[in-house]
Amino acid sequence: SHTHIEELGATLDDVNLKGVIDEAEAIARVVAHVEANPVPAGQWIVARGWDDGLWADRYPTHDALTAAFPDNPVLMDGTNGFGAWGNRLAMNAAGINIGAPDPTGGEILRDANGEPTGAVRNRGVALFRNAVPPLSDERLQRRLKNGLQLMADAGYTGVHHAGVDTRLMAAYEALAERGELSLRVSAMISGRDKPLMKAWLTRGIQRLGDDNKLFVHSVKGFYDGSLGARGAKLLEEYSDREGHIGVSGEEYGFFTEEISAMLQAGFQINVHAIGDGGNREVLHFLRDNFARNPALQKNRHRIEHAQVVHPDDFALYDNLDVIASVQPPFVAEDKVWTEDRIGHARSAGAYAWRSFRRNNTPLAFGSDLMGYDWNLFYGLHSAITRQSTDSQPPGGWFPEEKLTTEESIRGYTSGAAYAAF
Ligand SMILES: [Zn+2]
Repeated sequence: SHTHIEELGATLDDVNLKGVIDEAEAIARVVAHVEANPVPAGQWIVARGWDDGLWADRYPTHDALTAAFPDNPVLMDGTNGFGAWGNRLAMNAAGINIGAPDPTGGEILRDANGEPTGAVRNRGVALFRNAVPPLSDERLQRRLKNGLQLMADAGYTGVHHAGVDTRLMAAYEALAERGELSLRVSAMISGRDKPLMKAWLTRGIQRLGDDNKLFVHSVKGFYDGSLGARGAKLLEEYSDREGHIGVSGEEYGFFTEEISAMLQAGFQINVHAIGDGGNREVLHFLRDNFARNPALQKNRHRIEHAQVVHPDDFALYDNLDVIASVQPPFVAEDKVWTEDRIGHARSAGAYAWRSFRRNNTPLAFGSDLMGYDWNLFYGLHSAITRQSTDSQPPGGWFPEEKLTTEESIRGYTSGAAYAAF
Protein backbone atom coordinates (compact mmCIF):
# COMPACT_ATOMS: atom_id res chain seq x y z
CA SER A 1 0.00 0.00 0.00
CA HIS A 2 2.99 2.32 0.13
CA THR A 3 5.81 1.95 -2.37
CA HIS A 4 8.33 3.97 -4.33
CA ILE A 5 8.58 1.84 -7.45
CA GLU A 6 11.21 3.91 -9.25
CA GLU A 7 13.55 3.26 -6.31
CA LEU A 8 12.98 -0.47 -6.65
CA GLY A 9 13.71 -0.26 -10.37
CA ALA A 10 16.80 1.83 -9.61
CA THR A 11 18.29 -1.03 -7.60
CA LEU A 12 19.01 -2.65 -10.93
CA ASP A 13 21.32 0.23 -11.90
CA ASP A 14 22.35 2.05 -8.70
CA VAL A 15 24.62 0.75 -5.94
CA ASN A 16 22.67 -0.94 -3.16
CA LEU A 17 23.85 -0.04 0.36
CA LYS A 18 21.16 -1.98 2.18
CA GLY A 19 22.57 -3.58 5.33
CA VAL A 20 25.98 -1.89 5.36
CA ILE A 21 27.21 -1.52 8.93
CA ASP A 22 29.57 1.41 8.59
CA GLU A 23 31.10 4.01 6.31
CA ALA A 24 34.03 1.81 5.25
CA GLU A 25 31.73 -1.00 4.13
CA ALA A 26 29.49 1.47 2.29
CA ILE A 27 32.42 2.91 0.34
CA ALA A 28 33.80 -0.57 -0.36
CA ARG A 29 30.48 -1.54 -1.97
CA VAL A 30 30.57 1.47 -4.25
CA VAL A 31 34.18 0.73 -5.21
CA ALA A 32 33.28 -2.88 -6.03
CA HIS A 33 30.24 -1.82 -8.07
CA VAL A 34 32.24 0.68 -10.10
CA GLU A 35 35.01 -1.86 -10.71
CA ALA A 36 32.38 -4.20 -12.15
CA ASN A 37 30.50 -1.44 -14.03
CA PRO A 38 33.02 1.26 -15.02
CA VAL A 39 31.78 4.86 -15.10
CA PRO A 40 33.45 7.65 -17.14
CA ALA A 41 35.04 10.52 -15.18
CA GLY A 42 32.53 13.22 -14.30
CA GLN A 43 29.46 10.95 -14.39
CA TRP A 44 27.42 10.72 -11.20
CA ILE A 45 27.51 7.58 -9.11
CA VAL A 46 24.43 7.11 -6.93
CA ALA A 47 24.34 4.66 -4.04
CA ARG A 48 21.42 4.26 -1.69
CA GLY A 49 20.17 2.29 1.27
CA TRP A 50 22.41 2.97 4.32
CA ASP A 51 20.39 3.34 7.50
CA ASP A 52 19.89 7.08 8.04
CA GLY A 53 17.84 6.36 11.18
CA LEU A 54 20.34 4.08 12.90
CA TRP A 55 23.29 6.29 11.93
CA ALA A 56 21.52 9.53 12.90
CA ASP A 57 24.23 10.52 15.37
CA ARG A 58 27.21 9.48 13.28
CA TYR A 59 26.71 10.59 9.71
CA PRO A 60 29.94 10.15 7.74
CA THR A 61 31.89 13.08 6.28
CA HIS A 62 32.99 13.51 2.69
CA ASP A 63 36.71 12.82 3.29
CA ALA A 64 37.04 9.07 2.76
CA LEU A 65 34.53 9.15 -0.10
CA THR A 66 36.40 12.01 -1.77
CA ALA A 67 39.66 10.10 -1.46
CA ALA A 68 38.11 7.00 -3.03
CA PHE A 69 36.38 8.94 -5.83
CA PRO A 70 38.30 12.06 -6.83
CA ASP A 71 36.90 12.15 -10.40
CA ASN A 72 33.17 11.42 -10.07
CA PRO A 73 30.44 13.04 -8.00
CA VAL A 74 29.13 10.38 -5.60
CA LEU A 75 25.85 10.54 -3.68
CA MET A 76 25.27 8.19 -0.73
CA ASP A 77 21.52 8.35 -0.17
CA GLY A 78 19.98 7.04 3.06
CA THR A 79 17.36 4.34 3.09
CA ASN A 80 14.51 6.60 4.25
CA GLY A 81 15.40 9.74 2.34
CA PHE A 82 16.16 11.71 5.52
CA GLY A 83 19.94 11.65 5.38
CA ALA A 84 22.65 11.65 2.71
CA TRP A 85 26.30 12.38 2.23
CA GLY A 86 28.43 13.06 -0.80
CA ASN A 87 32.03 13.47 -1.86
CA ARG A 88 33.68 16.80 -2.70
CA LEU A 89 32.53 16.84 -6.34
CA ALA A 90 28.95 16.06 -5.30
CA MET A 91 29.07 18.84 -2.68
CA ASN A 92 30.35 21.29 -5.30
CA ALA A 93 27.61 20.31 -7.74
CA ALA A 94 24.97 20.64 -5.00
CA GLY A 95 26.24 24.06 -3.89
CA ILE A 96 27.03 22.76 -0.41
CA ASN A 97 29.78 25.17 0.66
CA ILE A 98 30.59 27.36 3.64
CA GLY A 99 28.28 30.16 2.49
CA ALA A 100 25.28 27.93 1.76
CA PRO A 101 22.31 28.48 4.10
CA ASP A 102 20.42 25.51 5.53
CA PRO A 103 17.41 24.76 3.34
CA THR A 104 13.94 25.10 4.87
CA GLY A 105 13.20 21.99 6.91
CA GLY A 106 16.72 20.67 6.40
CA GLU A 107 20.24 20.91 7.70
CA ILE A 108 23.75 20.98 6.25
CA LEU A 109 25.99 19.37 8.87
CA ARG A 110 29.08 21.47 9.62
CA ASP A 111 32.35 21.16 11.48
CA ALA A 112 33.60 23.53 14.20
CA ASN A 113 34.69 26.07 11.55
CA GLY A 114 31.32 26.09 9.83
CA GLU A 115 32.60 24.07 6.87
CA PRO A 116 30.04 21.56 5.57
CA THR A 117 31.11 18.02 6.44
CA GLY A 118 29.47 16.53 3.37
CA ALA A 119 26.38 15.19 5.17
CA VAL A 120 22.84 16.61 5.15
CA ARG A 121 19.64 15.90 7.01
CA ASN A 122 15.92 15.95 6.21
CA ARG A 123 15.17 18.31 3.33
CA GLY A 124 18.89 18.95 2.89
CA VAL A 125 18.89 15.64 0.99
CA ALA A 126 17.16 17.44 -1.88
CA LEU A 127 20.26 19.60 -2.42
CA PHE A 128 22.17 16.51 -3.50
CA ARG A 129 19.31 14.83 -5.31
CA ASN A 130 18.54 17.94 -7.34
CA ALA A 131 22.17 18.11 -8.44
CA VAL A 132 22.04 14.65 -10.03
CA PRO A 133 21.17 15.11 -13.71
CA PRO A 134 17.68 13.80 -14.46
CA LEU A 135 17.26 10.44 -16.12
CA SER A 136 16.06 10.36 -19.68
CA ASP A 137 12.34 9.64 -20.09
CA GLU A 138 13.21 6.27 -21.48
CA ARG A 139 15.41 5.30 -18.51
CA LEU A 140 12.78 6.49 -16.04
CA GLN A 141 10.10 4.41 -17.74
CA ARG A 142 12.42 1.42 -17.69
CA ARG A 143 12.96 1.87 -13.96
CA LEU A 144 9.23 1.84 -13.26
CA LYS A 145 8.72 -1.11 -15.55
CA ASN A 146 11.57 -3.06 -13.93
CA GLY A 147 10.33 -2.25 -10.43
CA LEU A 148 6.79 -3.37 -11.22
CA GLN A 149 8.08 -6.52 -12.86
CA LEU A 150 10.07 -7.44 -9.74
CA MET A 151 6.87 -7.12 -7.70
CA ALA A 152 4.77 -9.00 -10.24
CA ASP A 153 7.32 -11.82 -10.18
CA ALA A 154 7.02 -11.90 -6.39
CA GLY A 155 3.25 -12.41 -6.68
CA TYR A 156 1.87 -8.94 -6.08
CA THR A 157 -1.18 -7.86 -8.08
CA GLY A 158 -1.23 -4.14 -7.37
CA VAL A 159 0.77 -1.37 -5.74
CA HIS A 160 0.16 2.14 -4.43
CA HIS A 161 2.94 4.51 -5.42
CA ALA A 162 3.31 7.07 -2.61
CA GLY A 163 4.17 10.33 -4.31
CA VAL A 164 4.27 10.57 -8.10
CA ASP A 165 5.57 13.84 -9.53
CA THR A 166 5.10 15.27 -13.02
CA ARG A 167 7.86 13.21 -14.62
CA LEU A 168 6.86 9.96 -12.94
CA MET A 169 3.23 10.52 -13.89
CA ALA A 170 4.22 11.06 -17.52
CA ALA A 171 6.25 7.85 -17.39
CA TYR A 172 3.33 5.92 -15.91
CA GLU A 173 0.95 7.32 -18.51
CA ALA A 174 3.33 6.30 -21.30
CA LEU A 175 3.62 2.77 -19.90
CA ALA A 176 -0.16 2.53 -19.44
CA GLU A 177 -0.76 3.67 -23.00
CA ARG A 178 1.61 1.04 -24.36
CA GLY A 179 0.08 -1.66 -22.17
CA GLU A 180 3.38 -2.17 -20.33
CA LEU A 181 2.21 -2.05 -16.71
CA SER A 182 2.56 -5.51 -15.23
CA LEU A 183 0.51 -4.58 -12.14
CA ARG A 184 -2.36 -2.30 -11.20
CA VAL A 185 -0.91 0.98 -9.99
CA SER A 186 -2.65 3.49 -7.77
CA ALA A 187 -0.47 6.53 -8.44
CA MET A 188 -0.72 9.14 -5.68
CA ILE A 189 -0.15 12.62 -7.05
CA SER A 190 2.74 14.23 -5.19
CA GLY A 191 1.43 16.89 -2.83
CA ARG A 192 4.69 18.76 -3.28
CA ASP A 193 4.14 19.12 -7.03
CA LYS A 194 1.77 22.07 -7.32
CA PRO A 195 1.59 22.09 -11.15
CA LEU A 196 0.70 18.39 -11.19
CA MET A 197 -2.03 18.88 -8.57
CA LYS A 198 -3.42 21.74 -10.60
CA ALA A 199 -3.44 19.67 -13.77
CA TRP A 200 -5.34 16.83 -12.10
CA LEU A 201 -7.78 19.19 -10.45
CA THR A 202 -8.88 19.89 -14.03
CA ARG A 203 -8.62 16.32 -15.30
CA GLY A 204 -10.38 14.76 -12.30
CA ILE A 205 -10.14 11.17 -11.10
CA GLN A 206 -9.23 8.78 -13.95
CA ARG A 207 -8.40 5.21 -14.82
CA LEU A 208 -5.94 5.01 -17.68
CA GLY A 209 -4.54 2.49 -20.12
CA ASP A 210 -6.19 -0.26 -22.14
CA ASP A 211 -6.81 -2.37 -19.11
CA ASN A 212 -7.41 0.52 -16.69
CA LYS A 213 -4.33 -0.51 -14.77
CA LEU A 214 -3.31 3.04 -13.89
CA PHE A 215 -5.62 4.68 -11.37
CA VAL A 216 -5.15 8.33 -10.41
CA HIS A 217 -7.48 9.24 -7.58
CA SER A 218 -5.33 10.35 -4.68
CA VAL A 219 -2.76 12.83 -3.43
CA LYS A 220 0.25 12.09 -1.23
CA GLY A 221 0.85 14.85 1.30
CA PHE A 222 4.08 15.12 3.29
CA TYR A 223 3.42 16.48 6.76
CA ASP A 224 6.50 15.80 8.86
CA GLY A 225 9.91 14.10 8.80
CA SER A 226 11.07 10.75 10.13
CA LEU A 227 11.46 9.64 13.71
CA GLY A 228 14.93 8.19 13.21
CA ALA A 229 16.31 11.50 11.92
CA ARG A 230 14.27 13.40 14.57
CA GLY A 231 12.22 15.17 11.90
CA ALA A 232 8.85 13.74 12.99
CA LYS A 233 6.64 16.34 14.67
CA LEU A 234 6.05 15.50 18.33
CA LEU A 235 3.63 17.06 20.79
CA GLU A 236 6.44 17.27 23.33
CA GLU A 237 10.21 17.36 22.94
CA TYR A 238 12.30 14.39 21.84
CA SER A 239 13.55 12.27 24.71
CA ASP A 240 17.06 12.45 23.27
CA ARG A 241 17.17 16.07 22.09
CA GLU A 242 16.07 18.75 24.49
CA GLY A 243 13.77 21.46 23.19
CA HIS A 244 13.39 19.78 19.79
CA ILE A 245 9.96 18.73 18.50
CA GLY A 246 10.67 18.10 14.81
CA VAL A 247 9.55 19.79 11.59
CA SER A 248 6.13 19.87 9.99
CA GLY A 249 3.43 21.59 8.00
CA GLU A 250 3.96 24.32 5.44
CA GLU A 251 7.62 24.63 6.42
CA TYR A 252 8.06 20.98 5.53
CA GLY A 253 6.30 21.28 2.18
CA PHE A 254 2.69 20.52 3.12
CA PHE A 255 0.62 22.87 0.97
CA THR A 256 -2.57 23.20 2.99
CA GLU A 257 -4.47 25.24 0.45
CA GLU A 258 -3.66 23.14 -2.61
CA ILE A 259 -4.20 19.83 -0.84
CA SER A 260 -7.51 21.05 0.58
CA ALA A 261 -8.59 21.94 -2.95
CA MET A 262 -7.82 18.38 -4.11
CA LEU A 263 -9.71 16.94 -1.15
CA GLN A 264 -12.70 19.19 -1.81
CA ALA A 265 -12.64 18.05 -5.47
CA GLY A 266 -13.15 14.44 -4.34
CA PHE A 267 -9.59 13.12 -4.36
CA GLN A 268 -8.46 10.77 -1.62
CA ILE A 269 -5.78 12.41 0.54
CA ASN A 270 -2.96 10.26 1.93
CA VAL A 271 -0.74 12.20 4.27
CA HIS A 272 2.63 11.13 5.62
CA ALA A 273 2.49 11.75 9.39
CA ILE A 274 4.87 10.11 11.84
CA GLY A 275 5.03 12.01 15.14
CA ASP A 276 2.10 12.26 17.55
CA GLY A 277 2.00 16.00 16.79
CA GLY A 278 2.03 15.34 13.05
CA ASN A 279 -0.76 12.79 13.36
CA ARG A 280 -2.91 15.11 15.45
CA GLU A 281 -2.43 18.07 13.13
CA VAL A 282 -3.27 16.02 10.04
CA LEU A 283 -6.39 14.66 11.74
CA HIS A 284 -7.42 18.23 12.49
CA PHE A 285 -6.69 19.22 8.89
CA LEU A 286 -9.04 16.48 7.70
CA ARG A 287 -11.67 17.33 10.31
CA ASP A 288 -11.69 20.98 9.23
CA ASN A 289 -12.11 19.94 5.61
CA PHE A 290 -14.94 17.53 6.39
CA ALA A 291 -16.71 20.33 8.27
CA ARG A 292 -17.00 22.15 4.94
CA ASN A 293 -18.43 19.11 3.17
CA PRO A 294 -19.29 16.10 5.38
CA ALA A 295 -19.77 13.73 2.40
CA LEU A 296 -16.03 13.90 1.70
CA GLN A 297 -15.32 12.00 4.91
CA LYS A 298 -16.27 8.78 3.09
CA ASN A 299 -13.44 9.06 0.56
CA ARG A 300 -11.18 6.74 2.57
CA HIS A 301 -8.51 9.26 3.46
CA ARG A 302 -5.33 7.82 4.83
CA ILE A 303 -2.52 8.72 7.15
CA GLU A 304 0.70 7.16 5.90
CA HIS A 305 2.85 5.55 8.62
CA ALA A 306 0.55 6.69 11.51
CA GLN A 307 3.60 5.87 13.52
CA VAL A 308 3.31 7.56 16.92
CA VAL A 309 -0.23 8.37 18.01
CA HIS A 310 -1.28 10.06 21.24
CA PRO A 311 -3.71 7.84 23.20
CA ASP A 312 -6.46 10.47 22.86
CA ASP A 313 -6.23 10.48 19.08
CA PHE A 314 -7.14 6.88 18.23
CA ALA A 315 -10.79 7.84 18.70
CA LEU A 316 -10.34 10.68 16.24
CA TYR A 317 -9.09 8.25 13.60
CA ASP A 318 -12.33 6.35 14.11
CA ASN A 319 -14.58 9.41 14.15
CA LEU A 320 -13.07 10.72 10.93
CA ASP A 321 -13.00 7.30 9.14
CA VAL A 322 -9.28 7.63 8.50
CA ILE A 323 -7.31 4.58 7.34
CA ALA A 324 -3.96 3.87 8.99
CA SER A 325 -1.55 2.92 6.20
CA VAL A 326 1.28 1.27 8.11
CA GLN A 327 4.44 -0.71 7.41
CA PRO A 328 5.00 -3.77 9.60
CA PRO A 329 8.76 -3.94 8.87
CA PHE A 330 9.15 -0.61 10.71
CA VAL A 331 8.46 -2.25 14.05
CA ALA A 332 11.12 -4.88 13.42
CA GLU A 333 13.79 -2.36 12.48
CA ASP A 334 12.90 0.91 14.23
CA LYS A 335 12.41 -0.52 17.72
CA VAL A 336 16.19 -0.28 18.21
CA TRP A 337 16.01 3.49 18.57
CA THR A 338 12.31 4.32 19.01
CA GLU A 339 12.50 4.37 22.81
CA ASP A 340 15.63 6.57 22.65
CA ARG A 341 13.72 9.11 20.59
CA ILE A 342 10.40 9.17 22.44
CA GLY A 343 10.83 7.22 25.69
CA HIS A 344 8.86 4.25 26.97
CA ALA A 345 5.48 5.87 27.64
CA ARG A 346 5.07 7.36 24.18
CA SER A 347 6.38 4.17 22.59
CA ALA A 348 3.21 2.45 23.78
CA GLY A 349 1.40 4.45 21.10
CA ALA A 350 3.99 3.64 18.42
CA TYR A 351 3.24 1.12 15.65
CA ALA A 352 0.11 0.50 17.75
CA TRP A 353 -1.84 -1.55 15.29
CA ARG A 354 -3.91 -3.49 17.82
CA SER A 355 -5.01 -0.13 19.25
CA PHE A 356 -6.13 0.93 15.79
CA ARG A 357 -8.09 -2.30 15.40
CA ARG A 358 -9.77 -1.74 18.78
CA ASN A 359 -10.80 1.68 17.55
CA ASN A 360 -12.36 0.41 14.30
CA THR A 361 -9.62 1.90 12.16
CA PRO A 362 -8.95 0.04 8.90
CA LEU A 363 -5.32 -0.98 8.42
CA ALA A 364 -3.52 -1.10 5.07
CA PHE A 365 -0.11 -2.78 5.09
CA GLY A 366 2.92 -2.05 2.96
CA SER A 367 6.68 -1.81 3.17
CA ASP A 368 7.53 1.74 2.04
CA LEU A 369 10.01 0.08 -0.27
CA MET A 370 12.94 0.77 -0.73
CA GLY A 371 13.12 2.06 2.83
CA TYR A 372 12.47 -1.41 4.18
CA ASP A 373 12.66 -4.96 2.92
CA TRP A 374 9.45 -5.54 0.96
CA ASN A 375 9.37 -9.31 1.30
CA LEU A 376 5.77 -10.09 2.24
CA PHE A 377 6.74 -12.83 4.69
CA TYR A 378 9.07 -10.47 6.51
CA GLY A 379 6.16 -8.04 6.89
CA LEU A 380 3.84 -10.76 8.16
CA HIS A 381 6.47 -11.93 10.62
CA SER A 382 6.91 -8.38 11.91
CA ALA A 383 3.18 -7.77 12.41
CA ILE A 384 2.53 -11.13 14.06
CA THR A 385 5.59 -11.34 16.34
CA ARG A 386 6.76 -7.71 16.67
CA GLN A 387 10.26 -9.15 16.62
CA SER A 388 13.19 -8.75 14.29
CA THR A 389 14.36 -11.73 12.27
CA ASP A 390 16.67 -12.77 15.13
CA SER A 391 13.54 -13.16 17.32
CA GLN A 392 14.32 -10.08 19.42
CA PRO A 393 13.05 -8.94 21.82
CA PRO A 394 11.72 -12.11 23.51
CA GLY A 395 7.93 -12.04 23.41
CA GLY A 396 7.91 -9.10 21.00
CA TRP A 397 8.18 -5.32 21.30
CA PHE A 398 5.05 -4.01 23.10
CA PRO A 399 3.46 -7.44 22.55
CA GLU A 400 -0.03 -6.19 23.41
CA GLU A 401 -0.04 -4.61 19.93
CA LYS A 402 0.57 -7.89 18.06
CA LEU A 403 -1.83 -8.88 15.32
CA THR A 404 -3.05 -12.32 14.38
CA THR A 405 -1.99 -14.08 11.19
CA GLU A 406 -5.41 -13.46 9.68
CA GLU A 407 -5.40 -9.77 10.52
CA SER A 408 -1.91 -9.44 9.09
CA ILE A 409 -2.80 -11.14 5.82
CA ARG A 410 -5.87 -8.92 5.57
CA GLY A 411 -3.64 -5.88 5.97
CA TYR A 412 -1.74 -6.78 2.81
CA THR A 413 -4.77 -7.90 0.82
CA SER A 414 -8.29 -6.63 1.51
CA GLY A 415 -6.91 -3.82 3.71
CA ALA A 416 -4.64 -2.53 0.97
CA ALA A 417 -7.38 -2.93 -1.65
CA TYR A 418 -9.85 -1.01 0.52
CA ALA A 419 -7.33 1.82 0.79
CA ALA A 420 -7.13 2.31 -3.00
CA PHE A 421 -10.65 1.66 -4.20
ZN1 LIG B 1 7.24 6.43 1.50
